[in-house]
Amino acid sequence: MAKYTPMMEQYLQIKADYKDAFLFFRLGDFYEMFFNDAIEAARELEITLTKRDSSQENPIPMCGVPYHAAANYIKILVEKGYKVAICEQVEDPKTAKGVVKREVVQLITPGTVMESTMLTEGENNYIASLSHFEDGSYVIAYNDLSTGENRLALIEEGFEAVIHEFYNQPIREIVISSTLPEDLQCQLRSRLQVTLSYQDEVKFSAEYRDLSENLNDERFMTAFSRLLNYVQDTQKRSLDHLQQAQIINRKNYLSLDMYSKRNLELTETIMKKGKQGSLLWVLDKTVTAMGSRMLKKWLERPLLHKDKIEERLEAVAAFYEHFLERDTLRETLKSVYDLERLAGRIAFGNVNARDLQQLKQSLERIPAIKDTLSQINQSEVMNLAKDLQYPEHLVALLNESLVDDPPISIKEGSIIKDGYHDQLDTYRDASRNGKQWIAELEQKEKQETNIKSLKIGYNRVFGYYIEVTRANLHLLPENRYERKQTLTNAERFITPELKEKEQLILEAEEKSVDLEYQLFLQIREKIKQHIPEIQYLADIVSRIDVLQTFATVSEMNNYNRPSFHSEKLEIKKGRHPVVEQVMQDGNFVPNDVTLDAEKNMLLITGPNMSGKSTYMRQLALTVIMGQIGCFVPCDEAELLVFDQIFTRIGAADDLVSGQSTFMVEMLEANHAISHATDRSLILLDEIGRGTSTYDGMALAQAIVEYIHNNIHAKTLFSTHYHELTSLENSLERLKNIHVRAEEHEGSVVFLHQIKDGAADESYGIHVAKLANLPEALIKRANVILQQLEGEEKETAKTNKRDEASSDQLSFFVEENPAPSKDDRVGSQADGKLVNQLKELDLFDMTPMDAMNTLYQLQKQA
Ligand code: ADP
Repeated sequence: MAKYTPMMEQYLQIKADYKDAFLFFRLGDFYEMFFNDAIEAARELEITLTKRDSSQENPIPMCGVPYHAAANYIKILVEKGYKVAICEQVEDPKTAKGVVKREVVQLITPGTVMESTMLTEGENNYIASLSHFEDGSYVIAYNDLSTGENRLALIEEGFEAVIHEFYNQPIREIVISSTLPEDLQCQLRSRLQVTLSYQDEVKFSAEYRDLSENLNDERFMTAFSRLLNYVQDTQKRSLDHLQQAQIINRKNYLSLDMYSKRNLELTETIMKKGKQGSLLWVLDKTVTAMGSRMLKKWLERPLLHKDKIEERLEAVAAFYEHFLERDTLRETLKSVYDLERLAGRIAFGNVNARDLQQLKQSLERIPAIKDTLSQINQSEVMNLAKDLQYPEHLVALLNESLVDDPPISIKEGSIIKDGYHDQLDTYRDASRNGKQWIAELEQKEKQETNIKSLKIGYNRVFGYYIEVTRANLHLLPENRYERKQTLTNAERFITPELKEKEQLILEAEEKSVDLEYQLFLQIREKIKQHIPEIQYLADIVSRIDVLQTFATVSEMNNYNRPSFHSEKLEIKKGRHPVVEQVMQDGNFVPNDVTLDAEKNMLLITGPNMSGKSTYMRQLALTVIMGQIGCFVPCDEAELLVFDQIFTRIGAADDLVSGQSTFMVEMLEANHAISHATDRSLILLDEIGRGTSTYDGMALAQAIVEYIHNNIHAKTLFSTHYHELTSLENSLERLKNIHVRAEEHEGSVVFLHQIKDGAADESYGIHVAKLANLPEALIKRANVILQQLEGEEKETAKTNKRDEASSDQLSFFVEENPAPSKDDRVGSQADGKLVNQLKELDLFDMTPMDAMNTLYQLQKQA
């Protein structure tokens, strides 16, 4: 067995406690990694892998990063989902006997980063814990260490609901018990792509009492303790900024399942996974990072209580009308820094004097904000103004103590103002007096020796010295000074008096720098007492920022205030808030929507690409915007307060999910059907297209009927199965609408206009025309269509649809079109084309698929 040096033994011992982390082992000016850590880190960080003890038989793989550049490397690793344990020397190497004592001082994990360089401004960074209980319920506890926020949610609808709750939130790490069943752990990992950590010991510590005052359920306590235990174990320091845990009462919010969060692209787009192109991207005109985070939270949990929604709308309306005050407010908010994260870093002990200056500047804006709000003079806005309490004592403390432009370092002085502390002033006087004495000495010596260029200088090695240039040396009386150093052009001297003063100055300076550091720590400690106040202010400022933002975007984009009703939804000239932004001005075609008790289901037909899913999405986004308290993109809106939104929209996600389109469709449809109520909104886009025609159509029809007869949710249903339009006759609350397309000079023009009634059936062929398929082919397709329709009517009569499909297939492939001048049937290439055509399974294709395939075939011809 290999024998290691005592230091390596120490390393191995510490590493044993941090098996799932990279151990950054401090050695002088470097953090070193060894063994597998080194091999993996060298690969991940693209740094050189070396060996320790290379003369030995089994040299140890090693790599390292300089301590002063470590933050960047840690950031890379943590962003990739790894954990990094920082192991420091905890005694002075000079005085240590044997191996220097080392300890892990912090475990940095994806969910617990505090460094501002590792956090995204305007975005939360959550760590969550998940606890499961015997009764089948789950409790999620969220914490954002950078802001101190703590929230808890009870989930009683099973594990799937846990995934839905987590989905799309900025969660970097989930802490679980190792007894959570393996398959559930797998699901968390694969469906949410987060780092999982384990915390089995769940002990409630007295320190948490204040934080958990309002938690009256054992389960909440367990979940919260699991989270706090983990955070404390990893951070090993003060967490005074943690805020009281808030319970998220999920019944108070519009519930959006994960499919809707994804399909509606609320905070990120499906394809690019970025903010751009999402609803958040359109709405986020917040000025502060805190406001940006709050907006995202509001978007994820729209409100359910009409009164609460109206409160927000009232404030937005006031900001909307008072645009001058709003501009002033936005200007003021620009100089408010991230109070929430500043509070976190104060508690954590990693703020410098510049951060405290930022805190001061931000707090000093409060009176101006209050003032502007008072000018608006509207009750909701006045309430916000009232809630903004100017923390006078805190600002006074910062004003008295800190200089205006402090350096970054807190250990080199020049932080504290004169007059703040007597002892510091004494030291500073001593040093200033000493320096004054030296300046006077310089004058005196110049005069007495008559050497104009004589000067007194200072360097670290020799301290203060008198310098005389070589040319002037002859003017200097013998033995006037003591020679200290010879340069090429000058000599440097000292005197006992000068050294004595130097001693005083240096001592005073050293003491004052030390004292400044101590005073800074004290000030930071005093500010800690004000953390709850700062956090409360941060909350109100964020609110103000989001509400003024709603007014700002509403004005920019011409949104209008909705009203809420209990029976009827009616939107006049509604628009899609995102699509209209990416289009040229005025090109978006607005459309109306009406849904009421008599007609609560709209069946939408129309060609592909005509705007069906845009229309459906725009309704959902309008509803969400209304329920977060924002104005909405339309001329007029009477809205209903929906309890849940379910969607089955979009094709893009199917390509990447790995599940078959059909399976995804059915999962999403099932989710909607099993959870929706008569107060819900269901959007189903082209259900059933993932399977063969009759299967799909049958299912689509059954789903429509089921929702109509059993659920009574407001529903929009788009389909390319023209046959379904006849349901209007049997389902009394269903109404057909269609997107209008017009034929213009032989091709289809999409007007994107929604009209009553069903669409014309032959749009697939019109689309093919658009793609410039050969005239003869289009003609032939028309003939086939007629034949198919004839056949279908026949089969409908005899009710034997299944058998019919195979007949139709064979009939299609056997017939050859009559040759014409344009057709090039007969060549070898055409033979191949015909074969390819024969192999197509038309009944498993959407019109769009057919068009794409035809396009490919045409390219080959
Ligand atoms: P469908 O669901 O019918 O296939 P989409 O809703 O995906 O069609 O719309 C296709 C494209 O048509 C969109 O990408 C958009 O550019 C355009 N479009 C949709 N609705 C409108 C509209 N109301 N005004 C202008 N363009 C629209």
